[in-house]
Amino acid sequence: MAALKVLSVASEVFPLVKTGGLADVVGALPPAVTREGIAMRTLVPGYPSILDALRNADAVASFARLQGGPARLLAGLAAGLELLVLDAPHLYARPGNPYVRADGREWPDNAQRFAALGDCAAALGRGLVPSFVPDVIHAHDWQAGLAPAFVRYGGTLGPATVMTVHNLAFQGQFPRELLATIGLPPHAYAIDGVEYHGTIGYLKAGLALADRITTVSPTYAAEIRTSEAGMGLDGLLRERAGVLTGILNGIDDKVWDPAVDAHLAQRYDARHPAQRAPNKPALQARFGLDVDAGSFVFGVVSRLTWQKGMDLLLEALATLVDSGAQLALLGSGDAALEQSFIAAAQRMKGRVAAIIGYDEDLAHKIQAGADALLVPSRFEPCGLTQLCALRYGAIPVVARVGGLTDTVVDANEMALAARAGTGVQFAPVTRERLELAMHRTLALWHERVTWRALQSRAMATEVGWSRPAKHYAALYRALAGSRAP
Ligand code: ADP
Repeated sequence: MAALKVLSVASEVFPLVKTGGLADVVGALPPAVTREGIAMRTLVPGYPSILDALRNADAVASFARLQGGPARLLAGLAAGLELLVLDAPHLYARPGNPYVRADGREWPDNAQRFAALGDCAAALGRGLVPSFVPDVIHAHDWQAGLAPAFVRYGGTLGPATVMTVHNLAFQGQFPRELLATIGLPPHAYAIDGVEYHGTIGYLKAGLALADRITTVSPTYAAEIRTSEAGMGLDGLLRERAGVLTGILNGIDDKVWDPAVDAHLAQRYDARHPAQRAPNKPALQARFGLDVDAGSFVFGVVSRLTWQKGMDLLLEALATLVDSGAQLALLGSGDAALEQSFIAAAQRMKGRVAAIIGYDEDLAHKIQAGADALLVPSRFEPCGLTQLCALRYGAIPVVARVGGLTDTVVDANEMALAARAGTGVQFAPVTRERLELAMHRTLALWHERVTWRALQSRAMATEVGWSRPAKHYAALYRALAGSRAP
C-alpha cells in the first residue's frame, strides 16, 4: 500500500527559521512520522535563510500571480527535510525575523504573506504537483490557518485538514476589507467561516474549518476551552471539543543528547550521572557566576515575556540569592525585562547572571550545568525546555499549567514514597509559590540520595518523538480513512 501523504504547512522550521518551539516541532515531525509509514513534505515560505539552504531544488509549479506577484514552488532538500518552498520574492525576500521589520513593527502585508501560504497549500491539495497530492493537510498556527479555508472554499472536496495550535496567543487578525484581496469568496466571511470579531481571523478560520484540531498537550487542550485561557476562542473550541485533542510534543533526542553533545564541557548519560558534575563549574565560569560546586544553580532558557512569568522570577531573585542559590539566565524578548535582568545581574554579581540573546550553544550548556531549570510560565501550551531539562538531568521546576503539568511529575512526598517524581510543580503562578518551589527544590537537593533518584528518573523519561509520532500517524490515518470513497 502506498504511504499516506501528508503536507505539513508552517512558517518556521528548525534550524532554518525559528522564533519559538513551533519551529522545533515542524522540523522534528517529518522524520518521526516517516518511521510510522507517513510520507510528509513541509510547505514553508521562501525566506532567504530557507532558499540559501535549499539543495537540488526543482521548480515544480509556478503562479503567474499569487497575492500580488509572481511565485514559484520549489521542491528540494534542506536540513535533511523534504521541503516545498514557496518562492515569492514580493512576500518573503526579507531577511531577519519572519513577522516583524527591523523597527519591531509587523510587516504591513502579513495578511497577504500568510494567505499565500494557505492558498498554495490548498492548491497542492487540488493536485498542483501531481507527484505529491496530499491526503491530509496539517496546518500549524495562524500563519497556516487559512489553509483549511482555501481548501473549504476551493470548490472541490479537497484533502482532510488538521489545524494544530502551538500557541493560542498568536491569532493573526486582519481587516475584513482584505477578504477579496486575499482571494476568499464573500460567503467565507461568516461566523462559521473566517469572520472573527469583525475581522478576518486566520487561526480562527483554521479552528472553525479544519476537520480536526490538535494542540500540543492534553492539559492545554482542556484549558483553551475555558474563558480564562481561551483567549476569545474558547466558545468555538467548546463547540468543536469533539474534534479537539492534545498530543504532547517531543524533542529531537539527537540534537539533545548529553552523551554526544559537542557543546558540553563533559558528556554524560543516564547511567553515568556523576560525569555531569564538571558542566556546572564550566557554566558558572562562562556566565561569570562564582565558581562553586556547593552553590545550587537555577537555569533559565526562555523568551523574556509575561507569558513566561519572567517578571515573577525578577521579584523572586532576592529570595533565590538569600537561599544561597545562583541564577544563570539566557533569554531575549521584552526590552524592559531584558534591562531588569541586566540590572539585577549587576546588583547581584556572582550570584545572578543574565545573557541576553538567542544562543543554541549556551542553551545546551545551561541544561547540562544547571541543577534545576525554572519554567514559571503563566500559560504553556507544551513547553520544550523542560523536556530538554529532563533529558539532561536539570530538574525542572515548573508552573502547573498546560504541557508543564503533563510532562513533569511532581516529586511530592507520596510520589517519592512510590519512587516517582521527576521535578517540582507549583500553583498558582505567583511569586510566593515560585519562592516556595525554589525552597522545596533546594530541600530535595540537600537529600543527596533523593536527588540522585530524581535525576535518574528525569533522565530516563521518554521525551523523544516516537510516542507523539504514533499519535499523529493514527490521526492522519483516521482522517484519510474517513475520506475514503
Ligand atoms: P516557546 O515556543 O513558547 O518560546 P518552548 O519551550 O516551547 O517555548 O520552545 C522554546 C525553544 O526555543 C526551545 O527549544 C528553547 O531551548 C529555545 N530557546 C528559547 N529561548 C532561547 C534562547 N535565548 N537561546 C537559545 N534557545 C532558546
